[in-house]
Amino acid sequence: PSDPRPDDAPASAALLARARAVTPGGVNSPVRAFRSVGGTPRFMVSGRGPYLTDADGREYVDLVGSWGPMILGHAHPAVLDAVHEAASRGTSFGTPSENEVLLAEEIVARVEPVQQVRLVSSGTEATMSAIRLARGFTGRPLVVKFAGHYHGHVDSLLVAAGSGVATLALPDSSGVPAQMAAETVVLPYNDVAALEAAFAARGDQIACVITEAAAGNMGAVPPDPGFTAALRRVTAEHGALLVSDEVMTGFRCSPAGWWGHERAGVDPDLMTFGKVMGGGFPAAAFGGRCDVMALLAPDGPVYQAGTLSGNPVATAAGYTTLRHCDDAVYARLAEVSRALGDAAAEALSAAGVPHRVQRVSSMFSVFFRDGEVRDYDDARDQDTAAFGRFFHAMLDAGVYLPPSAYECWFVSAAHDDTAVQRVLDALPAAARAAAG
Ligand code: PMP
Repeated sequence: PSDPRPDDAPASAALLARARAVTPGGVNSPVRAFRSVGGTPRFMVSGRGPYLTDADGREYVDLVGSWGPMILGHAHPAVLDAVHEAASRGTSFGTPSENEVLLAEEIVARVEPVQQVRLVSSGTEATMSAIRLARGFTGRPLVVKFAGHYHGHVDSLLVAAGSGVATLALPDSSGVPAQMAAETVVLPYNDVAALEAAFAARGDQIACVITEAAAGNMGAVPPDPGFTAALRRVTAEHGALLVSDEVMTGFRCSPAGWWGHERAGVDPDLMTFGKVMGGGFPAAAFGGRCDVMALLAPDGPVYQAGTLSGNPVATAAGYTTLRHCDDAVYARLAEVSRALGDAAAEALSAAGVPHRVQRVSSMFSVFFRDGEVRDYDDARDQDTAAFGRFFHAMLDAGVYLPPSAYECWFVSAAHDDTAVQRVLDALPAAARAAAG
């Protein structure tokens, strides 16, 4: 595909040409390709604190944060030290090691419903394994998910998915057998009546409901008050498990993730984590009730494994990141996200651009439409062309936003007043560009 925009990122463009020859689309994860916003994806060469620098030497305030992990900012000194120290002792043993225990203890200590965890290498593996475990525990085949929620590229969870599937406007993924899609029941989010109807019809076949603890992959769409409690009530009534996916929200929305933030007295049976807990390395986890986790191999019959699971360098990065996520970090995330979300709303209002800023704790997103967004139909009803103009004006001004109208903006504790001011300065002109 040719670039629709004249381009002033020659080094990135040259790298993209090389990448396209050897990698489909030139990228290793689709949203990175800038398909919905056009233009040349920037190849980054370094990151420090709140900034990224691209191959052309241009610096950006980063509001993607590697899609969530970089809660302390890039190249945090303590994380780098831990990584160097761990790597100097060897990078993978294929045996248990103490760093895994430290990270697991940290997760279990923070998130009460999680009595045990198993470490994996990506959020996709975490949700895939949690679903296998739920099916093994209940002996039932069906999985309920919500439209617009993204749980990684697990076959059965790619139905009506958010994130890149939404960005590329794909109906679903090709390559997922119809039988597999048929085992996934897709419901509208925040709709208790639809949930009750699905369970009334097929409740004895449903292994679990998997939900983003608060949706972040169709933009920020928090659960309505009482929705999480309804999930707990209905699943319990029918003997199904509740799987709360905190890959994005975990350790970001509070020290104990969305679960800690919402404090609605709702304990899921299983939870999944990733992103922040890997500190920028491939580490993720699923965990929950002891009696459910006991079914995993080697103690039980549900198989699950990984050559690099619990990798000593990744777990050192993750553990050190979590240990540095203190109250001051969460306070700064809240402050920066409030300032940026409010300023974006103000600039778009001044330019007369329909918009709606929504928040999931310190995650937030800007929908280019009026009115509340409660589900995927609402999220899709927005002016993505206006977002594209806004995105490119911000990029030109040195602000790296998620290249999709369906993604949250992520801030870090390293976003100091200088970085915040650069974003604030860029917003009014970008809002005028969005107005067209
Ligand atoms: N679940 C959620 C809620 C996510 O946001 C993501 C990634 N954006 C995943 C699962 C998949 O994680 P990964 O990309 O590490 O496979």
